[in-house]
Amino acid sequence: MVRCEDIASHADFRHLSTLQEIAVDLRYAGTDSFVGRDLYGSLDCAWLHHLAATGLEQAARLLAREAPGHRLLVLDALRPHRVQIELWDYLEGTDLRQYVADPALGSIHSFGMALDVTLVGPGGRELDMGTGYDEMRELSHPRLDAHHLATGELTPAQHRNRELLRAVLCGNGFQGIDNEWWHFDLLDRRHVRQHFTRVD
Ligand SMILES: [Zn+2]
Repeated sequence: MVRCEDIASHADFRHLSTLQEIAVDLRYAGTDSFVGRDLYGSLDCAWLHHLAATGLEQAARLLAREAPGHRLLVLDALRPHRVQIELWDYLEGTDLRQYVADPALGSIHSFGMALDVTLVGPGGRELDMGTGYDEMRELSHPRLDAHHLATGELTPAQHRNRELLRAVLCGNGFQGIDNEWWHFDLLDRRHVRQHFTRVD
């Protein structure tokens, strides 16, 4: 375990500012999140484990080939365990806790091995993914993409945008999850929880 305040001196982690061609807008470091208040405050959370950082760089290179002019926009990366507890507590009493990992298990974000990410187009605008970041409803579930495409709730363009995001991340070692189009993990979750350093 390492405290977020001490992460700069820990060799496992890499700052996002060292990544080329990656845009960063950490939504929990501000009021533009479902919680509505700044969860990071003075904490610098623009970090990833170096393995995830390398994967993200490779994803950016693949994106540059597949869709010139587009960029990856990181919405959340390292999320200290103390903030994970705040998110979990915030959703207490709702049926939305499927969208937030139980701190008792540990979020893969707290190991710097998960990221929330979207795409921006040549004009600098976020691509339309059909729902916004952290929109906690079924239309955000990649597992249901084919169904939502068939019913027209997702347009072909929105579906293509999700497919492009998945193609560049999953082509570089990341894997998506069933219920959030924006979330990707590197490596198996249990392996990460057992063998990687959690940031508190
Ligand atoms: Zn996430």
